[in-house]
Amino acid sequence: MTTDAADFGFEANVEQLLELMTHSVYSERDVFLRELISNAADACEKLRYEALSDAGLAAEAATPLITLALDKDKRTLTIIDNGVGMSRDELISALGSIANSGTRAFLDKIGAEKNDAAGSLIGRFGVGFYSAFMVADHVEVATRRAGSNEAWLWTSAGKGKYSIAPLDPALAPAVGTRVTLHLNADSDEFLDAWRLETIVREHSGAVATPIDLITAPGEEPKRIADGVALWTKSKSDITEEEYTDFYRQLSGQFDEPALTIHWRAEGRTEYTVLAFIPGARPLDLFDPARKSKSKLYVRRVLISRDADLLPPWLRFVRVVVDSADVPLNVSREVAQKSPAIAAIGKAIATRILQELTKLAENEPEKFAKVWENFGAVLKEGLHEDPARRDALFALARFASTKSDGKNRTLKDYVADLRENQTAIYYITGDDVKRLAASPQIEGFRARGVEVLLLDDSVDAFWVTSALGFDGKPFKSVTQGQADIDAIPRVDADETETPPPADMGVLVTALKETLVDYVEDVRISTRLTESAACLIASDKGLDRQLARLLAEHGQQAMLGKPVLEINAKHPAVAMLSTTLAQKGRDGATDGMYLLFDLARVADGEQPIDASAFVKRLGALIAKGV
Ligand code: ADP
Ligand code: MG
Repeated sequence: MTTDAADFGFEANVEQLLELMTHSVYSERDVFLRELISNAADACEKLRYEALSDAGLAAEAATPLITLALDKDKRTLTIIDNGVGMSRDELISALGSIANSGTRAFLDKIGAEKNDAAGSLIGRFGVGFYSAFMVADHVEVATRRAGSNEAWLWTSAGKGKYSIAPLDPALAPAVGTRVTLHLNADSDEFLDAWRLETIVREHSGAVATPIDLITAPGEEPKRIADGVALWTKSKSDITEEEYTDFYRQLSGQFDEPALTIHWRAEGRTEYTVLAFIPGARPLDLFDPARKSKSKLYVRRVLISRDADLLPPWLRFVRVVVDSADVPLNVSREVAQKSPAIAAIGKAIATRILQELTKLAENEPEKFAKVWENFGAVLKEGLHEDPARRDALFALARFASTKSDGKNRTLKDYVADLRENQTAIYYITGDDVKRLAASPQIEGFRARGVEVLLLDDSVDAFWVTSALGFDGKPFKSVTQGQADIDAIPRVDADETETPPPADMGVLVTALKETLVDYVEDVRISTRLTESAACLIASDKGLDRQLARLLAEHGQQAMLGKPVLEINAKHPAVAMLSTTLAQKGRDGATDGMYLLFDLARVADGEQPIDASAFVKRLGALIAKGV
């Protein structure tokens, strides 16, 4: 017994550790192939690097190749590379100890990071190889170190033990390494050539080494990846067709991309981006998750197929990003929250906005199509991303009472302001045609004041969060008092109509009769042709916004509207007369009908459908 202080090494149960590794580090099993292929590609890279300083290796390094070979009878999948191979010592240190990455050691050896070879190596953590045990119950590695005549066979069942034996060089690969997986009972799927091809195309289709597949012993190899990632080529070497093919594969759509943006960013973080704006709306455009799905590669190995790099309002853009500077965690799943990722996502968003702005200026027709497809999504940014609002306002196109088929920009709108006009007026709803016919905009039209006709749900939101454009606030024509009296009418002689008789009695009667349904009744300045319309009260929410919120369970938002009546309208004048002659009871039907007319014009049901039908029937009976 001793009481002296002492240091101890942790005791690890290797078998359990391996079990843990193979069952919990990765979220999907497919990735074992990515790991083994990236090791093979690393091995080819390493050999090329060593050949730079050792002319004797040059011949062996000449044509790097990875071959996958299937043998259904033996239930094996073999991954063969003609890379650097491993000596006995390297086998022990690289495959015999977990989390002891040979690649890491290699990087340290060559003084790393800034170097070309270093830049293209993928390994870092020294755990990838063990993912083989997710699908295999027995793994053999036959290998020959470049420049050596000895060959070795490493075997393990992944249960904490392995063995190494000398291998007859005649049975070893001439150059490089052969990893044979004896697939376990759950892994039949990986004996299927088509399945393998799909995984390779998805995860490793871009690695810098070509990949062949031999579907059965004795078959000719078939090239399934050409060893050149499209985005690494220079733009001038890529045809339109190649871009389109790539886009179709990436998006799973069959349209032509509306815009292809391909660039390489240099600076603090270096990365290459290939981004496409689809020519048609993807099916999941309005998926409630609103996640962007970018493909993120690190040194041409796929790390994430749905990295959420872009803001939700750019989720329709199909993006591939390849960076050497993205920090990975052990399972190679990216830390999405990392500052490097965030910075890249921001830079991409900025660039996409720039390119869209250019497109809008130079090819307005093409841009119009993009806006038609994705404007509703881009406008979400107006609400959510104040920092991007100006850029998005510059892109935004709107239907308006002046658009006449061609959409208008806010700049157009402001350039056409009428004398004494102080706000940008809009009406929201879900159908431009109906909006254009809304009674609420009559008075604006009569004064030549343009009204934006906003028909996407998101419109109801950004108009309240964006403070204005060019110093002019956004103002709903269906809310509050219309402040347009000071704007002269364009149809000047309209003012000649005789001033309406006193309507005070009618207004009071309406208020009292409809007390359960309206907050107030007033004489309108915004109506010219219709008899009545509904307006949101000054303190309440815009009616369309309130309706949207009510659809999502917030009924309380839908307050009582204000009924505005057109004192110059014959129906209103008649109602006023009826009231004077027959009293309140005699005018009740007329008052309800007037109110229901305003509701119907707003796209709503009459208050009481059967009563409405009766009243209308009685009216027809009087001879209309
Ligand atoms: P990492 O790739 O992160 O270094 P791995 O567990 O994937 O970790 O591989 C461990 C080490 O085994 C590698 O770093 C490399 O030195 C060695 N290795 C694995 N596969 C091969 C191969 N096909 N050829 C040469 N060396 C290999
Ligand atoms: Mg590896």
